[in-house]
Amino acid sequence: MTATQRKNNAADMQKSAVTPQNRPPCPLCGSQLGKGEKLHSVSFPADGEKIMHIHGCPYCAPPKQTLPRRCPVCKRSLPSGGFAVGRMWEKKDKLHLHITGCTVCKPQYNIKAK
Ligand SMILES: [Zn+2]
Ligand SMILES: [Zn+2]
Repeated sequence: MTATQRKNNAADMQKSAVTPQNRPPCPLCGSQLGKGEKLHSVSFPADGEKIMHIHGCPYCAPPKQTLPRRCPVCKRSLPSGGFAVGRMWEKKDKLHLHITGCTVCKPQYNIKAK
């Protein structure tokens, strides 16, 4: 596998890869986040888990975006103002994050905050 292919497959690999850290890499660009680097996300409490609106990490979130944001579900790049939606839950001190879609492939998520 070439470096380029590996990069393109980063989103796919997250599904099975188990990272040693309990912090998942950025689901949109695949960057492994270091200390003090956080995903830009908004969470909404739901039944035993959280619904996350994920805008990106310090590398891919606007306005200082340097890496493209790609939805791991539909593989399309997110337009500005778009975001990915996922579910997050904690199990045995490990955070699990499952992206279910984005505002491109799941337009019903694109609800404007009032
Ligand atoms: Zn990112
Ligand atoms: Zn999508």
